[in-house]
Amino acid sequence: MKIGIVGSGFVGATAAYALVMRGVGREIVLVDRDQKRAQAEADDIFHAVPFASALNVTAGTYADLAGAGVVIMAAGVNQKPGETRMQLLERNAGVFNEVIPQIIRHAPDAIIVVATNPVDVMTHLTARIAAQHGISRTRVLGSGTTLDTARFRALLSRHLEVDPQHVHAYVVGEHGDSEVLLWSLVSVGGVPMDDYLTARGLTISDEYRQSIDEQVRRAAYHIIEGKKATYYGVGSALARICEVILTNQRAILTICAPHDEIVGVEDVTIALPHLLSGDGVVGSLPLSIDGEEREKLARSARIVRDAIDQLP
Ligand code: ADP
Repeated sequence: MKIGIVGSGFVGATAAYALVMRGVGREIVLVDRDQKRAQAEADDIFHAVPFASALNVTAGTYADLAGAGVVIMAAGVNQKPGETRMQLLERNAGVFNEVIPQIIRHAPDAIIVVATNPVDVMTHLTARIAAQHGISRTRVLGSGTTLDTARFRALLSRHLEVDPQHVHAYVVGEHGDSEVLLWSLVSVGGVPMDDYLTARGLTISDEYRQSIDEQVRRAAYHIIEGKKATYYGVGSALARICEVILTNQRAILTICAPHDEIVGVEDVTIALPHLLSGDGVVGSLPLSIDGEEREKLARSARIVRDAIDQLP
C-alpha cells in the first residue's frame, strides 16, 4: 500500500524513516514545495531500506499520490522558539488551502492524517476543505495527543514499575498548553491506579504528579529550546497511526478528529480516545470524568474553538 507524505521537512521525513523502520506500507512518496529537499530525503531514507523493511521510497509530485491509502500532511511552517502553536495558525492556513485540494484531487480515497501544528485547528480546517469536496470527515484526523499520551504512559510506567503496555492513561483536549491529563482514569492492567499503588506499596505525591504533568505538557517547549524542533516522537506516532489504518487494526489512540459537540463546545476538533480503523475514525470512547477534569476539557475545547474562529 502506498503512503503519501506532503511536506518532507523534519516531521515528514522522520515519519517516512519511522515507517521504513517499522515496516509499514510498501511504498512511500514524498512531496514538497522544495523538490530538491524531497528528493534528498527520499534518497537518504531509501538507503536505510536494506537495514530495515523492503519499502520503496521516492520523491514525486501530487499526481504521484494516486492510489495512496494514507496521506500524511506535514507541510507548513515551523514553530519558532517561544511561539505558541496558535500563532502558527495564520501562516499554515494558507499552506493548507493550497495543498489539501491537491491531495484530494489526486488521492480521493486516502485517509488524511494531519501533523502540522496547531494540529487540532489544522485538522478542523482539513475536514472542512474535505467536506467541500464531498469527502466524509471520518476520513480526516490529526496526530492530536497521540504522542502526549505516550509520554504520560511512559512516565507513569517508570514510577509504577510496570510495562507501559499495561498502563492505560489518556491525554485529551488540545495538543498544546491546555491539554488535560486524565488522572482519574489511569488504570494498570484493568485496576484503578490508586488500588494498584496500594497493592504494590507505592505512593505518588502531589509534587510528583505535578512533575509528570509538567514533563508531558511542556515537553515540546523543552525540546525546541534545546534543538529547535521536535520530530522523532511525532514521526513515530505518525508511523503507528498509518500502521493502524493500513492494517485495519481498530486501535484506540488519542488522535484528534472533528465532532459536532464535545463537553458543550460545538463544531470542534480535539483529541479524545478514538477508535481508529482502516476506514478512518469509527468514534470516540465515552469519558466518565469528574467535574474538574470535565471543566478543564471544556476549557481546552473552547481554546481550540476560539482558534478555529480565527481561521482566515
Ligand atoms: P517540521 O519541523 O514541522 O517538519 P519543516 O520546516 O522542517 O517543519 O518542514 C515543513 C516542510 O513543509 C518544508 O519542507 C517545506 O518546504 C514544506 N512546505 C511548506 N509550504 C509548503 C507548500 N505550500 N507545499 C508543499 N510543501 C510545503
